[in-house]
Amino acid sequence: MTCKFHPNQEPIALCKRCDCGICKSCVAFADFSGLCPYCYLDSLKEKSRNYKIGEVILGIFAAIFLLGTIFAAIAGGVLYSNYHDPGMLTFFTYVGVFGALFVVVCIFATIIGFKKRKTLRLLEQKKRQLTTL
Ligand SMILES: [Zn+2]
Ligand SMILES: [Zn+2]
Repeated sequence: MTCKFHPNQEPIALCKRCDCGICKSCVAFADFSGLCPYCYLDSLKEKSRNYKIGEVILGIFAAIFLLGTIFAAIAGGVLYSNYHDPGMLTFFTYVGVFGALFVVVCIFATIIGFKKRKTLRLLEQKKRQLTTL
């Protein structure tokens, strides 16, 4: 048995996904993930896709919480200016809660967006390297 990508190399491991033999330089190429070069590129693609889905879901939640903040602020403001209603305090509590949730979701979306870009950069870099492997 030889390395799938380097027919003159002894394999030192088997790819965790496709069970093909991989040599030392292939293992290093795949950043010691235990995958062959092709499976490693696939796993990076999947990872960036998952980050993208996460980003979209967090974006939807951010929009919902932002709208909640705005509506609660308007409702509280109307109650206060028209009636000096103590009920406005409840709405301003919602403003605080929705606002805090909005900030938290935005922070997570930023982190995931950063990870996605990092994964995509790595993927591009590895795709280029694959031709010289
Ligand atoms: Zn593989
Ligand atoms: Zn190899």
